[in-house]
Amino acid sequence: MKTITCDICKRTITQPVVERDYFHIGHRDICESCKDQLDLVAKPVIRTKQPFNYEWYNQFVQDSIEKSIVRGKVEVR
Ligand SMILES: [Zn+2]
Repeated sequence: MKTITCDICKRTITQPVVERDYFHIGHRDICESCKDQLDLVAKPVIRTKQPFNYEWYNQFVQDSIEKSIVRGKVEVR
């Protein structure tokens, strides 16, 4: 049986479906609830970024993931 572990909250997901139960971002596996939290963090920051730059966005998301892994959760301000 296939299982994956969320790199942020360490929750184990059995029979995961990518883009539904978890997301593969960079080299990290992120569960759906952590991805939702990341989106909450990213949205207000993205709104202030003009003009929008996809490379910058990817870097921002990757940085947020790495910080969240250190904390063991996504910090929502
Ligand atoms: Zn998670």
